[in-house]
Amino acid sequence: MTHILSETNLDYSDILIKPKMGNNCNSRKDVNLIREYTFKRGQVRKGLGIFNANMATVGNFETAKHLLKAGMFATLHKFYTAEEIVNFMKECQDEKIDYSNLFITIGIRHWPEEFSKLKEIEDSGVWLKENICIDAPNFYIPEAYRILKQIRENYLDAVIMCGNIASSDICHKLLEYADILKVGIGSGAVCTTRKMTGCGVPMVSLILECADIAHSVNGMICADGGIVEVGDICKAFALNADFVMAGGLFAGTDEAEGEVITKCFKTGEYSVDWDFNPECSKMEPGKPMYSYKNYKLYYGMSSTLANNKFAGGMSNYKASEGREVLIPYTGNLDKILQDIKGGVASACTYIGAANVKSMSKCATIIKVNHTINKVFERYEHD
Ligand code: 5GP
Repeated sequence: MTHILSETNLDYSDILIKPKMGNNCNSRKDVNLIREYTFKRGQVRKGLGIFNANMATVGNFETAKHLLKAGMFATLHKFYTAEEIVNFMKECQDEKIDYSNLFITIGIRHWPEEFSKLKEIEDSGVWLKENICIDAPNFYIPEAYRILKQIRENYLDAVIMCGNIASSDICHKLLEYADILKVGIGSGAVCTTRKMTGCGVPMVSLILECADIAHSVNGMICADGGIVEVGDICKAFALNADFVMAGGLFAGTDEAEGEVITKCFKTGEYSVDWDFNPECSKMEPGKPMYSYKNYKLYYGMSSTLANNKFAGGMSNYKASEGREVLIPYTGNLDKILQDIKGGVASACTYIGAANVKSMSKCATIIKVNHTINKVFERYEHD
């Protein structure tokens, strides 16, 4: 019989981290943002555990390069050819960019072509540390597991991240071969899975559930989707996520794929008050007044647009589970990366955590009805 689990599952907007007296750091400068990750098979990687989503819009070379330079982690989307990826790695070598935290994404739909692509990259000799992200919107399907096993058998020393999942029942099984599980179904900003299928789990409850099980066997989790603001990243770390992946947060930047799209709005008409401002003498009363706003296009990997672009159209057995949105242009990515570092460091000082890893030990999470005061938000400058 179907039964209902009656405990309410929570999302980032349902909680806050409670500031409290700690002992370890006096200032944000004292916080160590770099975590040394030691995975099950002894592989070590170092960095601030932030990933760009492996989507066509933000899993591009330019975005990846900026995250790597900032000491974070990065994925590449699965539509790049082996040759393009090899060239990118050579470019990183020339520019002295450490790309040991770069994850190559492979899909499960085109197999064994995806496997040959990995081999081709490997043969180039420029792939220093094998980090692989195996991407399937629904990692519960048996084929995904079969591919994970095959990849592990061929890349014994690689750090393998796979997903997505949204329950802990599958964690042990996947962690036999994987190192990091990507958790999150239905949370993404351009995802319509919950609308189309009614399936999904809010991120806060999901992180707690999966981190607990994954950590019990030395596995790690990456909280994927639903990051609306930097504070949500802090919450994910405080809840014991090892990594956080974001798409929409990076999608409005210069570095994300696609051109800036400018839209013009009629905002009013010039009045006759031109004595107040000499500039106005150039303008005729009654003439329309315009303002311009810049946007970038962000689209889900299961959207109709993505299917048309990369899969030759939408197959007749499936429906779109992603949308296409014009989101406000946010300028340079480095500013956002700096905000992330500043925000995470500050969260650590509010709870007395000396580093990101100890955030979960130091944090007390409170359930709230209201997280942010938005009263003046509509007056914000662009
Ligand atoms: P965001 O950070 O924008 O909230 O979420 C990014 C995540 O949304 C991605 O990493 C991926 O897991 C998920 N995602 C991307 N495209 C789609 C889509 O078309 N449909 C669904 N269901 N999820 C998507």
